[in-house]
Amino acid sequence: MSPAFLPFALPEIGEDEIAEVVDTLRSGWITTGPKARRFEQDFAAFLGDASLQAVAVNSATAGLHLALEALGIGPGDEVITTTHTFTASAEVARYLGADVRLVDVDPVTFNIDPAAVETAIGPRTKAIVPVHYGGLAADMPHLLAIAARHGLKVVEDAAHALPTTVGGALVGTLASDATVFSFYATKTITTGEGGMLVTRNEALAARARVMRLHGISRDAFDRFTAKVPSWYYEIVAPGFKYNLTDIAAALGIQQLKKAHAFRQRRAEIAARYDAAFAALPLVLPAQAPAGDTHAWHLYPVRLADAALAAGITRERFVERLFEQGIGASVHYVPLHQHPYWRERYKLEPAMFPASQRAYERLASLPIYTRMSDGDVERVVAAVRAALAA
Ligand SMILES: *Cc1c(COP(=O)(O)O)cnc(C)c1O
Repeated sequence: MSPAFLPFALPEIGEDEIAEVVDTLRSGWITTGPKARRFEQDFAAFLGDASLQAVAVNSATAGLHLALEALGIGPGDEVITTTHTFTASAEVARYLGADVRLVDVDPVTFNIDPAAVETAIGPRTKAIVPVHYGGLAADMPHLLAIAARHGLKVVEDAAHALPTTVGGALVGTLASDATVFSFYATKTITTGEGGMLVTRNEALAARARVMRLHGISRDAFDRFTAKVPSWYYEIVAPGFKYNLTDIAAALGIQQLKKAHAFRQRRAEIAARYDAAFAALPLVLPAQAPAGDTHAWHLYPVRLADAALAAGITRERFVERLFEQGIGASVHYVPLHQHPYWRERYKLEPAMFPASQRAYERLASLPIYTRMSDGDVERVVAAVRAALAA
């Protein structure tokens, strides 16, 4: 009998998370309340910087939208981001009526190329949204310097980057205007759906707190604990419905405690893959610089020329993995290939040579804490077999 299919990703939900959720369900307070607040406090404490504000939201997409909104991005403005990402990194600028300038990536890390950013800056440019692809930090020192020189805002899409460091500092504590993490089911910690916006800018945090809940001047929890009449609230803007529930926050409180241990396990799997694949016709993912931390949300390999010459296309490679019961994926179909982005901005693959070349050769292998050593060896064996001509 062949072993069960090994999915590309699975969340690790333990008894601690289950007990915390049950506690929330029994408490009677299931939407945004004490657990969401505690998750925010725990998250700021995790980042270890007392000057940070953490704003819990129901997705990273919501957090990115709120950050750009609070920074005043609107019609006529332009936001620069990478083509090699998930559409959420870019679509949020469109929500606000701003335009998106997609740029190419570094051919080794697949992170946004600072030189391409600098070239793309024009009179309408207002912000840069770097993505820490796969959990490896983008070149933040360079990007922050460019932003400072041109008076641009920086909002980091840190959906993959918990925990990731740059020059020893955790992503979330850098000098950008805001950083947004994702707790989607496949991310490094999960609340099912959820996200966290972190910032040192108090006005930005205050605006995001108002806009995440209908433009109400204080959130529901405050309304029922402060001295003003419990029924009184004010609408100060046409806000959104982006608040994180206490049910989700309960998951987050317990997941966050395990974030370092989870990363350790993913790093072990990455190291095993690195050793096992060294002699295969694959280009392995870039490592973090010495002393820095890679979150290892993804383990993306690229087919080397030798594999392609032997007739193993990326499509064939992924198909052969599936035939052996191994889930794989591709990160990403670059935005410039998607009909909406391609047609809206008249984009062509030749404008993004590094992303395009990577895309044609990329496959992401399973890398998650619930994989046993045996599962990892199954992937290793399947990759070897898939590459055998
Ligand atoms: C997952 C992801 C998002 C969106 O996160 P949600 O929490 O699902 O909104 C944004 N950017 C990148 C790069 C992602 O991988």
